[in-house]
Amino acid sequence: MIIDGKKEAAILREEIKNEIAELKKKTKKVPGLTVILIGEFAPSQIYVKNKEKSSREVGINSDIIKYASDVSEKVVIEKIEELNKDKNVSGILVQLPLPDHISKEKIINTIDPLKDVDGFNPLNVGNLASGYEAIIPCTPLGCLLLIKKVEKNLSGKHAVIIGRSNLNGKPMAQLLLKENCTVTIVHSKTKNLQSECLRADILVAAVGVPNLVKRDWVKNDAIVIDVGINKVENKIIGDVSFEEVKDKVKAVTPVPGGVGPMTIACLLSNTLKCFKYR
Ligand code: NAP
Repeated sequence: MIIDGKKEAAILREEIKNEIAELKKKTKKVPGLTVILIGEFAPSQIYVKNKEKSSREVGINSDIIKYASDVSEKVVIEKIEELNKDKNVSGILVQLPLPDHISKEKIINTIDPLKDVDGFNPLNVGNLASGYEAIIPCTPLGCLLLIKKVEKNLSGKHAVIIGRSNLNGKPMAQLLLKENCTVTIVHSKTKNLQSECLRADILVAAVGVPNLVKRDWVKNDAIVIDVGINKVENKIIGDVSFEEVKDKVKAVTPVPGGVGPMTIACLLSNTLKCFKYR
């Protein structure tokens, strides 16, 4: 089975759009998402443009605040504090990566946890780790929704996650633990990566190494989720050698067209969630 992330994301966006239309009828208000974009990094420009387009399509008011790469940390922090107080702003997203002179930690800590649509604020991270209500980072949330399209009950499954970033690997592990999986996280210092991956009923690759996961790294009945986005010879490919594994495993996501579209749909879902909190 090839998991169609584009189709699943379209279904999720439609649900969000309908819910926003209903809420608008009742409250005369719609969610608002403000994105702060610093500098000229080309992939960030594309991501932010896509986020804005998708927001508008579902009825979210989207606003982009752009700064030159030499903007001071103070100016950005003051803007976030202003947005924290703004009743029309439901969600705030500061597009990463940031220039070296701006502290990612300070920026993430300044965003009101109830407006933290990326789920990076330590309060949301801690709530997720404690199994409490939290805003969940968009990519792992999208991965979980895709896994559950294949298998609803994940209890007792062995999940192996390649990568331990705050963005992907760690929150993915927390989500799968909450689903009663037995979770193994592997990373660049792990010995014998292949044998660890071979134990996986669910394998999530969030690495950034093209085609790292080969045919003889996966079990026949594994669900394989490829988070990787790697540009190779003007093509985007994942961390999983898709052609090698696609007719072996139970289910696999393609790149592009797998996790990517779900990430943006989950951002819209998080924005709606923040709006409803308020
Ligand atoms: P990251 O912060 O660079 O983390 C990568 C992780 O992979 C680290 O934990 C690293 O281990 C591990 N790793 C690196 N090389 C390895 C190897 N050879 N064997 C085993 N583990 C290895 O990356 P990230 O932000 O999580 O992103 C991962 C990938 O997902 C990237 O390709 C990124 O572009 C993509 N991505 C996609 C989406 C989407 O929407 N589809 C969203 C975000 C990111 P150490 O910790 O030991 O260094």
